[in-house]
Amino acid sequence: ADGARVPALVVGTGYGGSVAALRLAQAGVDVHMIEMGMAWDTPGSDGKIFCNTTSPDQRSYWLRTRTKAPLNFFLGFPIDRDISRYTGILDAEEFGGITVYQGRGVGGGSLVNGGMAVTPKRENFAAILPSVNADEMYNTYYPRANAGLGVGTIDPAWFDSTACYQYSRVGRKQAQRSGFPFVFVPDVYDWDYMKQEAAGTVTKSALAGEILYGNNHGKKSLQKTYIAQAKATGRVTVSALHQVTSVSPAAGGGYTVVIDQLNTTGGVATTKTVTADRVFFAAGSVGTSKLLVRLKATGALPNLNNEIGKGWGDNGNVMCGRANHLWDPTGSLQSTIPCSGIDNWDAGGAFAEVAPIPTGIETYASLYLSITKNPNRAQFTWNAATGKVDLNWQLAWKQPSIDMAKTIFDKINSKEGTIYRTDLFGVYKVWNDTLTYHPLGGAVLNKATDNYGRLTAYPGLYVIDGSLIPGNTSVNPFVTITALAERNIEKIIATDL
Ligand code: FAD
Repeated sequence: ADGARVPALVVGTGYGGSVAALRLAQAGVDVHMIEMGMAWDTPGSDGKIFCNTTSPDQRSYWLRTRTKAPLNFFLGFPIDRDISRYTGILDAEEFGGITVYQGRGVGGGSLVNGGMAVTPKRENFAAILPSVNADEMYNTYYPRANAGLGVGTIDPAWFDSTACYQYSRVGRKQAQRSGFPFVFVPDVYDWDYMKQEAAGTVTKSALAGEILYGNNHGKKSLQKTYIAQAKATGRVTVSALHQVTSVSPAAGGGYTVVIDQLNTTGGVATTKTVTADRVFFAAGSVGTSKLLVRLKATGALPNLNNEIGKGWGDNGNVMCGRANHLWDPTGSLQSTIPCSGIDNWDAGGAFAEVAPIPTGIETYASLYLSITKNPNRAQFTWNAATGKVDLNWQLAWKQPSIDMAKTIFDKINSKEGTIYRTDLFGVYKVWNDTLTYHPLGGAVLNKATDNYGRLTAYPGLYVIDGSLIPGNTSVNPFVTITALAERNIEKIIATDL
């Protein structure tokens, strides 16, 4: 409530924020979580909380009047459609050279993502987080994160027989014929539930095309794991449709936090001010970076150091599709939950997820989201003229990602006698090089913060989300974000409280 004083305020309810809230509450601290997106706990007029990927309505996008689907063309025809402006679940946030997709709502990215829960190979860890003790991460914090998130793996026998992973089996066959390691990828989707979907005994979700705009069943989003546990302590409250706009030192100690309560068309219903002893920035890489860069530049937190806003990367994301021969159909029924990847990280700098195209019809296409070792890093800066935060990413900076992904797909195409699809992202466009699902960095650990996420110029202010990670995790990022948050909050609880 307006004027309240809280011991701990968490900005954002994604992975970092949920870990912070749970562990602080278990340590006896009352926590208030502030989330700009909706609660996503109430069904719409169709009886469902989330809308389907194939029939997006106002629930699909954050304050847009037209959808902006990552796979935006089919057979050369655009598939985006008009929707009404609403505080929907997926934000396609546009910067100069890149569109950054993010989840909006209680649960953050866990509401919209594929649930692929990948722990990086240990030999790659030093390049991901150089100042962090790898033994501690692999012995304690990665296992803790995997347990907290409910990570599981697909039953290999079921994988071999089910129609809904024919697209993955085609991916495996072709990867292996070209000599690439094919790997199963763990996920937080409930694999037993998916088996029941396939058997027709439960309501379908992954097998009904649900993913980008939310899964109504089966996926263990943060609402079902960390946030549910946090709420069960009785010490955590969550305010949805509330956006933090300012944090500054309060006269009597602690921090003054200004919060806009939003209505569902994005307008400000009312503005509230609370005082917090501690503030945890968990608004995601883009959200936290934008807040901190603006608060430093506009004088609310002038002593933040000059690393704020730097070290942002796209986890090397690039997408492409391949056209298979007629004797290699990928199946009309495709699970939206990817379960496999092609690992050419060491030799070619690319790890490619075998991704679904859940249209319900046979496409003969294979789709891949590659994570690559792209070295380019961008910076967020305050633009006083527009009153906004800019990101200086350049479209051409994706070229290294394309080159690395090609180390896999040029070889597969040549071995199979196949070609790239040119009709999935535009007219005659092979590479989707204009987006990322994996924003990372902007308040890098041990640079913008100390080695545990403390903003040391301001005791009691912490960063605890993907902005701590310097641009790349070599695999999908949320397990690493969760594990790092587990490590940092344990230290903060032990030494700062
Ligand atoms: P987030 O999860 O982004 O949470 C930040 C929260 O803060 C959001 O809910 C946001 O609305 C809120 N917020 C922002 N600003 C404010 C503010 N000022 N006030 C209040 N609240 C605010 N990763 C994987 O590992 N595996 C996958 O399979 C995978 N698939 C993905 C698919 C898609 C389509 C997308 C978009 C992402 C995917 N990701 C995947 C990435 C993963 O979801 C993110 O890396 C992860 O969610 C980041 O966690 P976070 O805690 O840093 O922030």
